Amino acid sequence: MNAPAPFSGSGDHTDAASLPFANAFATLPPAFFTRLQPTPLPHPYLVGVSADAAALIGLDPAVADSDAFIDIFTGNAIAQQSKPLAAVYSGHQFGVWAGQLGDGRAILLGDLPARDGSRLELQLKGAGLTPYSRMGDGRAVLRSSIREFLCSEAMAALGIPTTRALCVTGSDAQVRRETVETAAVATRMSPSFIRFGSFEHWYYNKRHDELKLLADNVIANFYPELLGEDNPYRSLLAEVTRRTAHLMAQWQAVGFMHGVMNTDNMSILGLTLDYGPFGFMEAFDARHICNHTDQQGRYSYQMQPRIGQWNCFALGQALLPLIGSVEDTEAALASYDADFAAKNDALLHAKLGLTTRQPDDDKLFEAMFAILQAGHVDFTLFFRRLGDLRVESNAGDEPLRDLFIERAAFDAWAQQYRARLRHENSADAARKLAMDATNPKYVLRNYLAQVAIDKAQQKDFSEIAKLQHILRRPFDEQPEHDKYADLPPDWAGHLEVSCSS
Ligand code: AMP
Ligand code: MG
Repeated sequence: MNAPAPFSGSGDHTDAASLPFANAFATLPPAFFTRLQPTPLPHPYLVGVSADAAALIGLDPAVADSDAFIDIFTGNAIAQQSKPLAAVYSGHQFGVWAGQLGDGRAILLGDLPARDGSRLELQLKGAGLTPYSRMGDGRAVLRSSIREFLCSEAMAALGIPTTRALCVTGSDAQVRRETVETAAVATRMSPSFIRFGSFEHWYYNKRHDELKLLADNVIANFYPELLGEDNPYRSLLAEVTRRTAHLMAQWQAVGFMHGVMNTDNMSILGLTLDYGPFGFMEAFDARHICNHTDQQGRYSYQMQPRIGQWNCFALGQALLPLIGSVEDTEAALASYDADFAAKNDALLHAKLGLTTRQPDDDKLFEAMFAILQAGHVDFTLFFRRLGDLRVESNAGDEPLRDLFIERAAFDAWAQQYRARLRHENSADAARKLAMDATNPKYVLRNYLAQVAIDKAQQKDFSEIAKLQHILRRPFDEQPEHDKYADLPPDWAGHLEVSCSS
């Protein structure tokens, strides 16, 4: 799968200060946001830029090292047509109503025309205090900004719906977390950053006029095809439910764990949003919790599909006054299980290189997850190496078989799998090609991000660029980068990812 070529047409913007910003979000009434200026950071520098993200808005990445670019995307200068603002929202955090939250450290610069004819909003994350900062300092640390930057772009390259990340800038300004770290600003891009919690905000404040305005705005801008429906709000809920179910299946299929699936982190467009203590599954454990502050495991790997549904119900509750009846709201939510199951089933078939459906396929999948669980087998390596299995010979099985301590368990499952492949006359070469296009070789393992972060904290940003380079083609062999596909080193077993960011 090839990433798009960098934009090099005559439409390239070379001056960040004169980007043609508009702000569709600001057509909503003032209660939805506060206009404000970002707070400058001292002596900012460029940490990383995504040429692919820049291409989406026709911005020439070659100018990313200029003072003008760095100043605009740190919040030290404002583009001529940008009128920055922070938006209000609320949400359920860890299943509990948390009341008002809002852009506590994110500042929306406005939206820009995208190369594909759509529009993309640009948002600075970590650009200073806002009226919604509550106890926070309005800042983000370099560590978490690099993680969000790398993962947003890596997810996009995996073909998973996500917000994008244009760049990260850093400053030596100190930010206090568990330890003292340095500040950074990540610039995110998305058609919209509106969350489930944006709707809950008006519902729980009993302001149904604003609730309706928000829903109408979202439908008009992002779901115009629903305008003609007899109950567009019900259709909106049904469509968001469908997208969320599909997104959950896509996360599960690559072993992505979000870590903080609060309703304020759920995109109304069904995008992966707000990268915090996320992780990619390594040694398989369905109960794995990537966020070490989530002691109950509410957001563990195996819980994600259920929580996605829980969040849709929370959205449904908020939309109930617009939809009009509990029956219609329930009807809009009803297809979640079937939507998830269908997508999950399709993705699992693809991951195993199966082109037909057979009655016992679920048993094959269950047995596979059972041996992965029992052996704590590396998720990414397992599926990638599975593509090398040959139907009529086990001569090439070793690299795959070596991932298991219990070789007999693997052999038993492989026998089942081979029989299944024979059943559909699967051809080795074609199947491997298809599987390699769906089972990534390279994912953003925690330790890879950590190595890049450690270097960046010493002002060496080369590893970030290297990871970007590798992760933008996650399905390609790139044999020169083989070691980036390896099992994590021993020291990585002790890495803990906290919510602090
Ligand atoms: P999160 O868990 O990162 O999605 O954040 C939850 C809420 O806390 C959101 O409203 C954020 O804007 C806000 N928040 C998180 N960190 C900070 C910070 N350092 N300063 C201000 N607000 C923050
Ligand atoms: Mg958030």
